[in-house]
Formats: sequence, C-alpha cells, structure tokens
Amino acid sequence: MKPLLHDRLNVALMAIALLGLCVGVGLWLGARTDLATFVWTAGVLPVLAALVVEIVRSLWRGDVGLDIVAALSMSAALLFGETLAAAVVALMYSGGTFLESYAQGRARREMSDLLSRVPRTATRHRNGALDEVPLDDIAPGDLLLIRQGDVAPNDGTVESGAAMLDQSALTGESMPTRLTKGNDVMSGSTNAGDAFDLCVTRRAADSTYAGIVRLVEAAQASKAPMARLADRWSLLFLAVTVTLAAAAWWFTGDPIRAVAVLVVATPCPLILAVPVALVAGLSRAAHFGVLIKGAKPLEALARIKTLILDKTGTLTDGRPQIVSIITLGKMSEEDILHFAASLDQASKHPIAQAIVAAAQGQGAPLSIPQNVVETPGEGVAGTVEGRQVWVGGTAFVAAQVGVVDAEIANITAGSVVVSLGVDGKVMGHIVMADSLRSGTADLLAGLRRLGISRILLATGDRRAVADVITDGLGLDGVRADLTPDQKVLLVLTEHKRGPVMMVGDGVNDAPALAAADVGVAMGARGAAASAEAADVVLLVDDLNRLLPGIEIAQRSRKIALESVVAGIGLSILGMIAAAFGYLTPVQGALLQELIDVAVILNALRALRIRPGAAAKAVAPPRMLPQLNGPNT
Ligand code: ADP
Ligand code: MG
Repeated sequence: MKPLLHDRLNVALMAIALLGLCVGVGLWLGARTDLATFVWTAGVLPVLAALVVEIVRSLWRGDVGLDIVAALSMSAALLFGETLAAAVVALMYSGGTFLESYAQGRARREMSDLLSRVPRTATRHRNGALDEVPLDDIAPGDLLLIRQGDVAPNDGTVESGAAMLDQSALTGESMPTRLTKGNDVMSGSTNAGDAFDLCVTRRAADSTYAGIVRLVEAAQASKAPMARLADRWSLLFLAVTVTLAAAAWWFTGDPIRAVAVLVVATPCPLILAVPVALVAGLSRAAHFGVLIKGAKPLEALARIKTLILDKTGTLTDGRPQIVSIITLGKMSEEDILHFAASLDQASKHPIAQAIVAAAQGQGAPLSIPQNVVETPGEGVAGTVEGRQVWVGGTAFVAAQVGVVDAEIANITAGSVVVSLGVDGKVMGHIVMADSLRSGTADLLAGLRRLGISRILLATGDRRAVADVITDGLGLDGVRADLTPDQKVLLVLTEHKRGPVMMVGDGVNDAPALAAADVGVAMGARGAAASAEAADVVLLVDDLNRLLPGIEIAQRSRKIALESVVAGIGLSILGMIAAAFGYLTPVQGALLQELIDVAVILNALRALRIRPGAAAKAVAPPRMLPQLNGPNT
C-alpha cells in the first residue's frame, strides 16, 4: 500500500472509531442502551476488519505479530456484549497507528528537506572543454559527461560509447543494463560502467526530485523490520495472555474475566512504542545531516563494535595539494599535469578531481578524454589527443606499461603518488599531500566513548602512505593496497567479531559498504554509487557527524526498549488484576489507554535527543555551530 493511502485509511479508521465511541456514549447517557450498543459495534467493525486484513497479510509473510491480541480482544469484547470496552480498544488501536504514521511523516519531511538542500552539479561539455555546472543550468540538448559511479542527473540519451547502467533503485532490476548510442537513460540510474556522454532531453528539476523521492522511499520501504524488536517478544506475550485469559474463564466460569484480561493485554505500546521511537530517531538524525535509511540500519548502528574507515576522501579531507611533479625527462612537468588532468576529468576519484582542479588553476585548457576505462581505486586508462594514457597509482601504471620504478617509493614515502603513463612508457609522477581531516583524533576518542572498541583503516593506497597518515592515531589496524574485493573480505572477516560499520566515499568502497552491517557513505562529495550502496549517508562533508548519528541511534533504541519493558510490565500487572476480577473490561480498556499514552509519549522523547555526550569534552570549537544542522 502506498504510504499516503495508508495514512488516509488510518485517519478514516480513527475518525470512525472516535465518532462511534462518542455518539454511543451520548446515546447511552440518554438511556438508549440498545442503540448505543449498535453504534459502538459499528465503530469497531471497520477497525477490526482492517486489522484482520493486516494480520492475514503478515501471517502470509510468516510474521506472528501482537496485532493478534488486539483483534482477539476486540472480537471477544463484541462477542460477550462488552461493546463499550471494544469501542475504547478500537479507538486506542487506530489512534496509535495514526501516531505512528505521524512520526513517519515527520521523518519523511525532515529527510526530503535535507536532501533538497544538497547542492548538485554535473560535468558539461562546452566549447571543447568540460565544466562543472549546477544542475539548474543544464538545458535539453546539453552534453554531459557521466563518470563511473555518477548518477545520471537528467533524463537523456546515450551520445557516445556504451553505457552500463544500474537502474535497480528505479526499477528493481538488479543486473546493470547495457545501453548504446541513442538509447534512453533514466535520470536516477547509476553508471556502473565506464564514463560516457549523455545528451540531455529533460531539465533537471524533475530529475533531482526523482532522486530525492527515490532515496527517501528506499528509507521508507524498510518499515517492516522496525517492529522486529517487539516481535521477538510477541509470541511469548501472546501465549501468556491467552493462557491467563483462559485460566480466568476456567476458574470463575465467567467469560467477562477473559475479555477483561484480553482488553488490558491489548499491547498497543508494544506495537507502537518501538516504531515511534525509532522513526523519531531517524528524523532526529536527519536534522544533523545524517540520513539513516530506515529503522533496521538505525538499530544496527546502535550496536556497532568495529569501525573500518577508508582513507582517501574519508579519513583525509580528499582535497590533496600537489607537492611536486617528477619528470623522467621525456615530458615537461606542465605536459605531465596536462595529460593526467585531461584523462582524470573522466574520474570521480577525489585525487583525480584534485589534479583536474590544479591543472585548471594554471589556466591551460584541457583536452577531452576518449575510450575511458576506469579501475575503481586504482586508476584510469583512455586516449587523450590520440595518445594512449594511463593515470593512477604507481602499481596500476606500472602494471600497464610493465616498468616498476623502485626509487619512487623511497623518495616519496608517505605522500600520495599518481603516476602517468603515455604510449607504453612511464612519463612521470605527481606527488601529492592529502592531510587528515582536522579533529580526527578527537573524533576517534569520541567513537571509542560510544563503545566502538576496534577501529581499522582500509585503503587502496600504498602502505607507506597509510602508515604515515595514521601515525599516532592509535588505530587497531591498518590495511593497505586493498582492491574493492579485499575491502569486502576485510569487512566479512571483522564481522566474525561483531557488528561492523564501514565508512567510505569512493566507487571502490561501494561493495564493502553493502557488505557491512552498517555502510556509511560520505554523501556530500563522494560517489553516488557509494551513497546508493550505503545504509547511512552523511549529507554534509564532515566525518564528525558520525558521533551524533551513532549517539541518536543508541539513545532512540534505548528509549524504544524502555518503553517496551515498562509497557509490558504495567500491562501484565493490569492483566493479573483483571483475572482476579478487580477490573471490568471497560475499566481495563481505560487503564490500558493510560498506559499507552504514557508509553508513546515516552517514545516520542526520541524526537528531542540532544547528542553531545561523546563530543562534549573534546569538541573543537569550530564543530559546535555545525552541529545545529545544515540550515545554520
Ligand atoms: P582509498 O581506498 O584510501 O580511498 P583509493 O583506493 O581510492 O584510496 O585510491 C588509492 C590511490 O589510487 C590513490 O592515492 C591514487 O594514487 C590512485 N588512484 C585511484 N584512482 C585514481 C584516479 N582516477 N586518478 C589518479 N589516481 C588514482
Ligand atoms: Mg576513498
């Protein structure tokens, strides 16, 4: 069912239940007991019917939920003439469901607001050069370069080359589709293959919107697992309730005792407190720029013990500066930068973008690369001005041109090195410095305070670079020279010790993000493919947002648990009282209503969580204003 339809149905059911209850009470006060009974019954039946449909559906999926107790208590109350009690149960049940969808709607709005503020740009061909332009400036007829890992921002057609498009987020089709010149490309599909040119057919406004809706709907679709926590207890609770009701009936011979027990047991707090608290947590996290794609990842985030961090673009700020250019004599330093930058225009890698920015800063025009093939995390191959060019890590280029340059590693220990190969020969190296994000040590300390006991670095870069950059951080391990597959393997190995969180930004991180219990993508500047694969997206380019994200997850999960435990405890006391005849069904229903309101109000506390416990003692001053969310 679509959320909107669901919302309207919830409101309608609640209105009917409320109307039935009120009109019935009026008639009853006017001494028209028979009519009152009829009206109360009429108010209950639609709610009961909708509930039965819901139960049959979840039984079909193999879930035994607590909804069964609600249905049992309403039908038993109707059957034994306790229509007022049935009407009260129907109202609180439908009211609770309404509150749940209110909390969901709020989370949804918060997320869409946030996403719509994310700046989006695309790379456009103009007068033989490539420019980064805002999506709003792109008109039909424009030619865009769609790099590996990019999401097509506009609807259009393939102009050159063959495109491998992953449309799973749009159509559910999990295999990438191969498109050739002239084929239509849907905005929102991810480029799973090499860079290609897209001829725009529609403006971006619709497309951007489509992208937002897609992400948010993916988050919404994971609604079902929210109640998992409660569901684990529900079978036990169901058994206790039915046994107690049956026993009360058996020993007293009075079916009304059983009805009273069932009515008190109707476990709305259990059904609702968990989703309300978790969804409130989602919306709270969104406020801090942390998009959590549903309650399941939120729960997982709260339990993380091991953290694996990617290096370039994640632990480092991914805006490296060129330190020097080493030429091997066959090409000038300017030409080395020119060829490397021209080809790297086709890559989304932060190092590639830094090289392009540096070359553009020198004012010389770049050439448009052709036949581009990217190996994620290693480098790019292609033709520039008719020459075969390779740019990427030293090992990548050496593998292509068959020359290993041993000296380089010694001269440049600790700096990122990008090598350039042209027509089968190494031409030179660009040496770059990529510094740690500021406040990294404090961030790691904060994470440990939140209970993350093991922190590792996983990088595709060389060991020397990884060791220098992590020196003094007190990491539990540094893994270097990893391919995307080896990152996945590391995640799976670490998973044996407990739940693993992986944080990354690149196309080469996407498989590991998907494999982790919680994958976190640096969404602001990272590849769209990694945001797509992740469970959590940091929508601001600030790794420190991990702290509020995790803390909100932990605290909303705790609030959910508290609500469940308190709700069940009170309900069980009430059930025992009802079994011994101290509560009539109507009193029981009213009592349960009080418990419900208290528990749901408690769950809504998650909307007001103020994270900061982990960051407080150590927060660098410049972080504080940012913590108020992206709207400040
Ligand atoms: P990490 O895993 O730490 O994010 P990557 O695997 O993404 O690091 O990158 C490792 C190294 O690969 C970079 O330091 C750089 O030398 C090289 N590299 C990868 N892709 C490119 C590219 N498109 N252009 C230039 N260098 C690249
Ligand atoms: Mg990276």
